Amino acid sequence: MDGSVTREPTFRESVDLMFNRAAALMELTPGLEDKIRVCNSTYTVRFGVKLRGKIHTFTGYRSVHSEHMEPVKGGIRYAMGVNQDEVEALAALMTYKCALVETPFGGSKGGLCIDPREYDEDELERITRRFTYELAKRDLIHPSQNVPAPDMGTGEREMAWIADQYARMNTTDINSRACVTGKPPHAGGIQGRVEATGRGVQYALREFFRHPDGVRDAGLSGTLEGKRIVVQGLGNVGYHAAKFLLEEDGARIVGIIERDGALVDDEGLDVEAVSHWIRNHGGVSGYSSSGYVEDGPSVLEKDCDILVPAALEGVINLTNVDRIKAPLIIEAANGPVTAGADEILCKRGTVIIPDMYANAGGVTVSYFEWVKNLSHIRFGRMQRRQEEARHMLIVQELERLSRSLGDEWTLTSDFKDKYLRGADELELVRSGLDDTMRTAYQAMYDVWRARDDVMDLRTAAYIVAIDRVAASYKAKGL
Ligand code: GLU
Repeated sequence: MDGSVTREPTFRESVDLMFNRAAALMELTPGLEDKIRVCNSTYTVRFGVKLRGKIHTFTGYRSVHSEHMEPVKGGIRYAMGVNQDEVEALAALMTYKCALVETPFGGSKGGLCIDPREYDEDELERITRRFTYELAKRDLIHPSQNVPAPDMGTGEREMAWIADQYARMNTTDINSRACVTGKPPHAGGIQGRVEATGRGVQYALREFFRHPDGVRDAGLSGTLEGKRIVVQGLGNVGYHAAKFLLEEDGARIVGIIERDGALVDDEGLDVEAVSHWIRNHGGVSGYSSSGYVEDGPSVLEKDCDILVPAALEGVINLTNVDRIKAPLIIEAANGPVTAGADEILCKRGTVIIPDMYANAGGVTVSYFEWVKNLSHIRFGRMQRRQEEARHMLIVQELERLSRSLGDEWTLTSDFKDKYLRGADELELVRSGLDDTMRTAYQAMYDVWRARDDVMDLRTAAYIVAIDRVAASYKAKGL
């Protein structure tokens, strides 16, 4: 498919259309465009697990989009809507995302058709271990070939089960912990992975606001301070993004959309309190009578400065795009804007910070975790105290000088506390993530600004990503 979109494409078609738009502006070796676009393989598995006295059959997928670099990387999703088209679209996005943020992986994605809320913890563990067994015996989970991670409906707990199941099946593999990322810190995980995607959204917005002409294009000005933000989905990504933007950047969260409705408050919502309410009541209804809107999706159309879709794909589509008012959209979820809606929004001048960049914080910190697992040592363990000792030398020398000169000045104890403390793992992870988000934005931004035929950040992101994947194929002689 190419040209302008009149019917709503599937998710995979949507990703391909966006790819095609960018590829049309590039000079790729004949045939290479197709090679990069197609999904290399999708494995479907159906397996039975005996639960509650009966055998339940589950359907799962692991799709590998591109193996130009290995291992391939991408989460495993637990949701009823999981299907082949969706995992293939998500796997393709992983290829482009990893290329854009320079994590040395190909793209993959997995999913299991299941509503995790219908099973207790023991049942979920048995299902996850069985799914892991099916994937691992085909090397679709493997530290050097295919490394899953959390996605919608999965988290640290599931990743710990996967890691343990893999280790049981590969008892002599010293690198077995690197077979999956997003594990809890006590099971080989890394500090800062849970917050990583939301943190990446915050760093992406900060970087966007460091470039005044992009901000002007969106019809905005100034910084994140006081900006009115609507967040769709207060899951792991939406919650952390909203929390950091409110607490650290002074933005106002004026709308929160959940499955059972939405909350709006132009003065700004208390993200922590809303999240607490959702955890205890399963939704937003009942939180406050005044700001509750039963028709949740209608709040996507609310007047605001920044819209953060952080839940499902396809939520901004041909049916509601004409009513979307936000001048800036940051895609915290994968594929929240369909290709048709994207085209209309771009023509209208809405600036979209695309998913493959905006939500790349997760895979970036997954990369750090994988490296940590392979090196078998936590970040900072060798340098931290040495760094503190060297800083102490400087502080002591400055204090000696000031005494010998008879000057009055001293270093404040707050400065000394901050300066003398060597970086721990969390600080190093945040620093690495911030650097990644800044560097990737600049690569995208340079293409966006330098080329008259590139009208939006998404096309720029695809161009950067496709160029890198193409270079990797070329190096292999393809
Ligand atoms: N599922 C996340 C994503 O869509 C994380 C993938 C990973 O960490 O490998 O980017």
